[in-house]
Amino acid sequence: MPNANVLVINSGSSSLKFAVINSVNGDEIVSGLGECFGMPEATIAWKLNGIKTEEAITAADNHHANAITRIVKLIEDENLTDTIVAVGHRIVHGGEKFTKTVRIDSEVLAEIENLSDLAPLHNPAGAKGIHAAMAAFPSLPQFAVFDTAFHQTMPQKAFTGAISHELYEKYGIRRYGFHGTSHYYVSREAAKMLDKPVEQCNFITVHLGNGASVCAIKDGQSVDTSMGFTPLAGLMMGTRSGDLDPGIIEFLMKKGWTQEQVFDTLNKKSGFLGVSGITSDARGILQAMEEGHEGAKLAFQVFTYRVAKYIGSYLIPLDALDAIIFTGGIGENSLDIRREILNNLNLLGFVEDKKGNEDARFGASGIVAKSELLDALAVVIPTNEEFVIAQQSVELL
Ligand code: ADP
Repeated sequence: MPNANVLVINSGSSSLKFAVINSVNGDEIVSGLGECFGMPEATIAWKLNGIKTEEAITAADNHHANAITRIVKLIEDENLTDTIVAVGHRIVHGGEKFTKTVRIDSEVLAEIENLSDLAPLHNPAGAKGIHAAMAAFPSLPQFAVFDTAFHQTMPQKAFTGAISHELYEKYGIRRYGFHGTSHYYVSREAAKMLDKPVEQCNFITVHLGNGASVCAIKDGQSVDTSMGFTPLAGLMMGTRSGDLDPGIIEFLMKKGWTQEQVFDTLNKKSGFLGVSGITSDARGILQAMEEGHEGAKLAFQVFTYRVAKYIGSYLIPLDALDAIIFTGGIGENSLDIRREILNNLNLLGFVEDKKGNEDARFGASGIVAKSELLDALAVVIPTNEEFVIAQQSVELL
């Protein structure tokens, strides 16, 4: 297909990421980010042919629509209009309704809006992006790719919380999992690397970015994942706590903390930031550790220990393991963090491939360790969620 570019839109409550992607080879023709929506300092910036451009966007009442208008102009100015065959939207929550990528019509859009109860920050923002893109590109088909969809294959025992079943029936409280597009992509790429049909592959995928999650993949399908009803569950993250004793919430509220204060702390002031007391950024943690910062050292230890514990526990739903797959900004780049996670998994017999670990960084995939005991590898696969959104949109065309 000669003209097979897709405009990929990831619309957040105060930001909008976009890219024009070649759905065949994944080349990014232009990519950009609108930020600070709803505030006077809202901007939109993009990268084209290696050159960065930034502009202010005015009219605070509808920054999403104004950002899209600017993107339309950019696309026209660059003569890309005729090359774009679809718009692909990243949507955070598809609930139990959406198990794969779908073409957006009024019914799908209404469902996405209905699911706002489960993702009050994300789904309304995603819907805003869809409305704006539909108005701007009335003749282009639009597709929704859901963060939750890949995990809809989890068995009931993995997605059911050990709480009153009525809460599931009444409110839909269960494990949904997120980062599905990333877990899907890296598992498919790893299967290619192993030269094995993905339907016969068993993986533990470890996505470590600002948000972080682990997924157990059996015969190519998600069977468990560490994020839950919300993205707050599971691993320690940049600013999120991950798993914690829910009794702590009651304790803090009895101490006079409001619900907002508690959840602000758990979402925005915990994780690397909370434990280290200095930064949410893994590079900053590693740097501070080198300088002897005790908080950073502790944050590194807690983070790597917890990732290893999850990997260990995800051997349970699998009968065999082909590979542990590291991805995300941290998983793709930090050999120290990968090394420490594997050190914590001593009993599984992984032996580091030092050169492999050093080489698999900054966008390169590769093998970082091997376990003879499990007949398994540890590999790095750079994730590419935008490419999946572009590919799946075109596949459905
Ligand atoms: P997001 O979840 O926002 O997409 P990323 O996947 O880009 O985030 O990951 C961001 C994280 O990756 C940050 O903590 C950053 O410090 C970390 N990171 C990026 N490059 C490196 C590096 N060279 N070494 C260690 N950590 C890195």
